[in-house]
Amino acid sequence: MSDVLIVGGGFAGVWSAAAAARVRGESDLRVTLVSPNEDMVLRPRLHKLDPDWTRVPLKRVLEPIGVTHVRAAVTGIDTTARRVDLGDRSIGYDRLVLAAGSHLVRASVPGADHLFDIDSVEGVARLAGRLHDRSGFTAVVIGSGFTGLELATELAERGRVILIERADVVGPDLGPGPRPVIEAALAELGVEVRLGVTVASVGEKGVVLSDGGEITSDVVVWTAGMQASSLTAQIPAERDRLGRLKVDRRLRVFGDVFAAGDVAAALADPDHHVVQSCQFATPMGKAAGHNAAADLLGLPLVDFTPDPYVTCLDLGAAGAVFTTGWDRAVELTGREGKDLKNEILEVIHPPLDDAAEILRAAGEQSNGVRG
Ligand SMILES: Cc1cc2nc3c(=O)[nH]c(=O)nc-3n(C[C@H](O)[C@H](O)[C@H](O)COP(=O)(O)OP(=O)(O)OC[C@H]3O[C@@H](n4cnc5c(N)ncnc54)[C@H](O)[C@@H]3O)c2cc1C
Repeated sequence: MSDVLIVGGGFAGVWSAAAAARVRGESDLRVTLVSPNEDMVLRPRLHKLDPDWTRVPLKRVLEPIGVTHVRAAVTGIDTTARRVDLGDRSIGYDRLVLAAGSHLVRASVPGADHLFDIDSVEGVARLAGRLHDRSGFTAVVIGSGFTGLELATELAERGRVILIERADVVGPDLGPGPRPVIEAALAELGVEVRLGVTVASVGEKGVVLSDGGEITSDVVVWTAGMQASSLTAQIPAERDRLGRLKVDRRLRVFGDVFAAGDVAAALADPDHHVVQSCQFATPMGKAAGHNAAADLLGLPLVDFTPDPYVTCLDLGAAGAVFTTGWDRAVELTGREGKDLKNEILEVIHPPLDDAAEILRAAGEQSNGVRG
């Protein structure tokens, strides 16, 4: 009997498990997924501040397809002995898929303990708890990337929002394409934007900025910077500046180790690496899980062939902006953009309970979203 072991229960891990189970067929291949929580978390839904809406019970995806869920956090990986350490015990593997995701890089400013975040269900529950019943609150959101913009525009429906950006433009990493739409939305919603400043310190009652300005607020939310899981450092292979492992087009790091999702720097096309997003994590998981199992069973491996790159940024009551291509050409805005965003937030939910449907979806490389 051989073992495919998947570390992580997010988009990449769950779809790796489903794809490996699909390839397994009637063979005696064992597929095991290790992750500490009983739920998969749909992180693109986190900015809505509704923790229950983000959780998917792993049991209802994995059990029907015969995947074993080991509830534990991996603390070490020994690629020579082919074992992962769970603290109190270890598990062996024949093929490993590392899919342990990413996390927000914590701020290192005085008073950082007072910062809120929406990086996890726990973070969202803490923020939602603080804002519960507070009408007319003031929120400072630090960072105007995807997460900061989605949160700022969401909160603007309920209170005063001040968006802090170190660069001299909003959404510096999003490029000039969608910027006029984003700026118009922020103005429409009354979000106050402070450019060219960052945070000097944080306290119970607000924030001091790098230019000496002070803002009194109910919450200060940090959204800037993502980093791959530190487990990537346990694999002796090249990593990029985000800590992601370099993988080939089959998502293999080397030999019996594959990586998928936010821990993997795969090529999306000949000129671009994937960005950390569920639109790439999902098809990467499917390809990596397929390949890990197929490699053991002597079946053909598949290339990672993602859909063309798109983005859909929620802008709260101002709609959403949908872009295509690496230059992010604007295709939809306002109500039309919002309808597509709502559609995406639904389709990222995996099928539950129905083995045939879960395995069918595991065989689809395309996310089925317009590009
Ligand atoms: C607020 C927010 C909004 C986002 N919005 C969008 C969006 O609109 N569109 C989009 O495409 N992307 C979006 N993303 C990014 C997207 O959510 C991630 O790219 C995606 O979740 C990556 O999937 P993953 O499976 O690689 O990792 P994750 O979803 O991070 O899952 C990692 C899994 O690994 C587990 N794990 C971690 N450490 C260990 C360990 N030591 N041992 C065992 N298991 C471990 C975790 O518990 C988790 O189950 C957003 C992210 C955030 C935070």
